[in-house]
Amino acid sequence: MAAQQRVDNKYVYDFAEGNKDLKDLLGGKGANLAEMTNLGLPVPPGFTITTEACKAYLATGREPAGLAEQIEAHLESLERGMGRKLGDPADPLLVSVRSGAKFSMPGMMETVLNVGLNDRSVVGLSAQAGGNDRFAWDSYRRLIQMFGKTVCEVPGEEFEHAIDEAKRAKGTTNDLDLDADDLRALVDTYKKIFAEHTGREFPQEPREQLDLAIRAVFESWNAERAIVYRRQERIPADLGTAVNVVAMVFGNLGPDSGTGVAFTRDPASGAQGIYGDYLANAQGEDVVAGIRNTVPLQELERIDRKSYDELLDYMARLEGHYKDLCDIEFTIERGKLWMLQTRVGKRTAAAAFVIAGQLVDEGLIDLDEALHRVNGAQLAQLMFPRFKLDHEFEPVAKGIGASPGAAVGKVVFSSDRAVELAAEGEPVILVRRETNPDDLNGMIAARGILTSRGGKTSHAAVVARGMGKTCVSGADELDVNVPAKTFTVAGQTVNEGDVVSVDGTTGNVYLGEVPVMPSEVVQYFEGTLDPERIDDPLVRAVHRIMTHADATRRLRVRTNADTGADAARARRFGAEGIGLCRTEHMFLGDRRELVERLILAGTDREREDALAALLPLQRADFIEIFREMAGLPVTVRLIDPPLHEFLPPLEQLAVNVAVAQERGEDVAKEEALLAAVRRMHEENPMLGLRGVRLGLVIPGLFAMQVRAIAEASVEVTRAGGSACPEIMVPLVGAVQELETVRAEAEKIIAEVVGDSGVEVLIGTMIEVPRAALTAGQIAEAAQFFSFGTNDLTQMAWGFSRDDVEGAFFWRYLELGIFGISPFESIDRDGVGRLVRIAAEEGRAARPGLKLGVCGEHGGDPDSVHFFHEVGLDYVSCSPFRVPVARLEAGRAAVHPTGSDPR
Ligand code: ADP
Ligand code: MG
Ligand code: MG
Repeated sequence: MAAQQRVDNKYVYDFAEGNKDLKDLLGGKGANLAEMTNLGLPVPPGFTITTEACKAYLATGREPAGLAEQIEAHLESLERGMGRKLGDPADPLLVSVRSGAKFSMPGMMETVLNVGLNDRSVVGLSAQAGGNDRFAWDSYRRLIQMFGKTVCEVPGEEFEHAIDEAKRAKGTTNDLDLDADDLRALVDTYKKIFAEHTGREFPQEPREQLDLAIRAVFESWNAERAIVYRRQERIPADLGTAVNVVAMVFGNLGPDSGTGVAFTRDPASGAQGIYGDYLANAQGEDVVAGIRNTVPLQELERIDRKSYDELLDYMARLEGHYKDLCDIEFTIERGKLWMLQTRVGKRTAAAAFVIAGQLVDEGLIDLDEALHRVNGAQLAQLMFPRFKLDHEFEPVAKGIGASPGAAVGKVVFSSDRAVELAAEGEPVILVRRETNPDDLNGMIAARGILTSRGGKTSHAAVVARGMGKTCVSGADELDVNVPAKTFTVAGQTVNEGDVVSVDGTTGNVYLGEVPVMPSEVVQYFEGTLDPERIDDPLVRAVHRIMTHADATRRLRVRTNADTGADAARARRFGAEGIGLCRTEHMFLGDRRELVERLILAGTDREREDALAALLPLQRADFIEIFREMAGLPVTVRLIDPPLHEFLPPLEQLAVNVAVAQERGEDVAKEEALLAAVRRMHEENPMLGLRGVRLGLVIPGLFAMQVRAIAEASVEVTRAGGSACPEIMVPLVGAVQELETVRAEAEKIIAEVVGDSGVEVLIGTMIEVPRAALTAGQIAEAAQFFSFGTNDLTQMAWGFSRDDVEGAFFWRYLELGIFGISPFESIDRDGVGRLVRIAAEEGRAARPGLKLGVCGEHGGDPDSVHFFHEVGLDYVSCSPFRVPVARLEAGRAAVHPTGSDPR
């Protein structure tokens, strides 16, 4: 009997043991550090504690069994390799403790550098660095600051104030002017701050520092701002983070040292070249925090030619290896280059298209892969309007175009105020000196973000790009005074509430409201682009990728359009028909009078007269639409809303009657209307007399519409066009409803169409759950189904959309009951299941049954993937979403996994 031996899970991996495909286990940072190690790039040695360890810790509140021993073993091996012991007083090994989840979450998780320093090893570190006391004390104060802030929740400002104070006392604003003595004194101050806030002394034991830091990284997974970011980015909440323990290398050893970030292509435009920032004599975070002004990476060539060439070589190798834009963190320690991080870099929407196109040109990827590398959300962003500039508008400042778009709004200076005003429906621009993770909610609420400090890699820039939000960073002409809620620029003072316009493409900032115009990509779709710009890299890439999407997709894309003008525009955007033409508007405007007559009709004769008067008006509307969509199918929905929606509201009628009576006028008609409105009042109009129910209750109403459609089709076709009408009956729940309507409609159609060659299909919406569940029966009477997923969602959940979105959706999102509103993206498990059942059972009853969707989900990327999977024939969406749906339908066909390529 072999005793079952307990094997502990493997929780710790040396860098040499991992690779880039182990992101689930090692996190993105750890997996890529391992990959670089194995590529032979100079990565400081270290190890990664897995996300499994984190999850186990978060589940139980304790480190899982075996973890401590495994860390010990890997630490010992690291110490052996480095020939130093963690925190050794004479010759200390120092490490960084770095979080790294599967998906990069900028600024969300915590990193602590210089772990292992204490009152004794700081002396050893100085000796190690050839007696560089300044460096040793600078490193120590950084440790206390980072450890205090991220591990022990000491307010970061306390440390900031202390260092500002030290600089002030020295009469400088540059931290490099603080000498060893100043920094030693600062360490004392920091320790006092630490003790005051935590009730304990700064831990001197290196291993305790390490363990506390690791635990803090685990716990930061559930920090408020990490949760907000995940929700915003739709990152699952249960992935956990890995922890990387890395031997320290030092960029703060003097002028021959430094630290920087680099991109293998421009993450804003996609242009090829060398992009990045470098900061001499600095450590890690300094570059991104915008604490001192960085120099462009190109200057490194002059500062340290050898490291520069080496870096360029590694950048080229990484790009070839990852076949994509890489973003890199590096440090130079006394002329020796170290690679500290790489990942496939975030990029703007424009850059995503441009880079995908370039990589195809360079033979690194094929068109299918290019299609997979972009997404509908990015395309939607490229269709945002741009500023229309003429000489009237002069920028008052120019910062860095950190995240493109044109944003106009009222200036606010705090995250809370941004949230407040945005909730009142005001567009706001969040203005800060620099942003930090606490500004996240304000950034989400704002139309645009404007900072006076920080480069392309600052927190504001990175987070804004991730959110697709317009951002100008580092507009250093702005003097921002947050407490006073003002900024001054070019001699002018701008107060909270004043309007500014920011251009995230050029970095320009304007006072007042600049008018906007259609983007280049929209002009390309509309065919109005200046021919000279057809060769623009972005337009070329969009053209190429869209062409491939169209060639690849199985789903057709139609549009929702109620007028000829909408139909024409949608056709230019690539619509292949109309999936939903609502007829409600044909009862509005000056036709209300006729609708009132219809409703008030006391006799058959009066009703027939009203309908007869409506007929030619509707026919004319359909003619216009069928002409624009010649040769393409047009699904016309018979009237859907309850008729009382066409009458004035009760209160208004009551006042009209009272006023008319007062004046002694004839109130007969007003009184009749009032009585009708009272009679027709419904407690739940959404569930009342509407859709097919109206058609069955009001004689002649649907018949009139069917006749108008048939006559218009014949007229357009006879005139040389080609109308392909599909009549759609709304709100059907039982096949008998549809059969009744259909029998009447077919008679009229046969009579009108004659030998004109026009073919009119009759089908139904599937938007009542019962219809989905009896789809097999309904298909016997329907030539097509169109899923009305808005109503289907309302009725499947029992939600009245107008009531629930404002009332409690925020809470449901907060509780994770759903990750995204089911009105935005289809609820695959519930509503989606109804769609699936109806599609399968409908097609089983009537092979070849045409299936489409006409709810707003038709233009939502993730939903498009679902509709592809379920096997629908087409989606229909608003004209502006048509290109997005085309792209996503193509992506679904090449990568049937979901809409997000992360
Ligand atoms: P983030 O996820 O916020 O980028 P990182 O873990 O990458 O956090 O670390 C923050 C900064 O510290 C980065 O600039 C990084 O390059 C630097 N850094 C991390 N580990 C080390 C190390 N072992 N030696 C030197 N610098 C480091
Ligand atoms: Mg960080
Ligand atoms: Mg980093």
